Amino acid sequence: MILILIGPPGAGKGTQAKIVEDTFGVVQLSTGALLRTAISEGTEMGLKAKALVESGKLVPDDTIVGIVSDRIEDPDCANGFILDGFPRTVAQAEALADMLETKGLKLDHVVEISIDDDLLVDRLTGRFECASCGEGYNDKFKPTKAEGVCDKCGSTEFVRRADDTEEKIRTRLGVYHEQTKPILPYYKDRGILESVDGSKEMSDVTKQLKEVLSTAA
Ligand code: AMP
Repeated sequence: MILILIGPPGAGKGTQAKIVEDTFGVVQLSTGALLRTAISEGTEMGLKAKALVESGKLVPDDTIVGIVSDRIEDPDCANGFILDGFPRTVAQAEALADMLETKGLKLDHVVEISIDDDLLVDRLTGRFECASCGEGYNDKFKPTKAEGVCDKCGSTEFVRRADDTEEKIRTRLGVYHEQTKPILPYYKDRGILESVDGSKEMSDVTKQLKEVLSTAA
């Protein structure tokens, strides 16, 4: 299965992608996470992308298209993959269509997680994750059970993203509306766009998503 999850920052793409990964045995491919790893490892690409990623602006289409094209060749993508955070511009959507065609692959589902901006700022400013196992938390909506201790692995080290500050969140939401939303009509015109309501409880969003994914593309 090849699936694209589209939605503004904080809509829950990453959380839902992890669940789909576990349920359907397909790999979550988050371009943001790939970039953050490249930045922390100090690779050449990471160094070039750092200022853009940390300010909430998009990295150039060519860079990200190259990353995705290489990554989906990896053996763990053979069963399929979930694109989380890609494509983010119409040019990327077009490049993805060419890439899949060249590789003889077919896109099965494109799902929008729709949600209003005003719900997102709280979600994003409050989020943090375990530095050890990556479990996600939120100050307001999903605190750890014991303060300062990861529920899942017991670690006491947590990390917050450098771009989850209010100012950068506003930039990222602006970028989403201007550059990413136009990919919704792109997929709608091709008859492949589906939508779930991202303002609901996480488990409800998962239920809606599983329903969509269980129907044939
Ligand atoms: P995310 O983790 O999806 O919120 O992405 C974090 C940041 O990585 C974004 O604000 C961009 O700077 C960069 N990024 C991630 N995916 C893309 C993409 N498909 N195109 C351009 N930049 C991206």
